[in-house]
Amino acid sequence: MEFCPTCGNMLQYELPHMGRPSRFFCPTCPYVCHLENKVKIKRRQHLVKKEIEPVFNKEDMKMGGSETDGYPHIRVWDTGT
Ligand SMILES: [Zn+2]
Repeated sequence: MEFCPTCGNMLQYELPHMGRPSRFFCPTCPYVCHLENKVKIKRRQHLVKKEIEPVFNKEDMKMGGSETDGYPHIRVWDTGT
């Protein structure tokens, strides 16, 4: 059971619809609580470790210069050549 933090009314549950995630919404004010968004934020933090892995090859590094600017340590696995 969820309650609106703004006005204290009981939130209504809305099923997923047309690609939109399930959510709680307040019937008396514009407050909306997206359930799936909370999960995505947690997963995104978990994915930060992946930047170490060579998810793209050297050709991609040459093509997209702006992509590599944020990850200078990626040269570690590129020194072999
Ligand atoms: Zn409300």
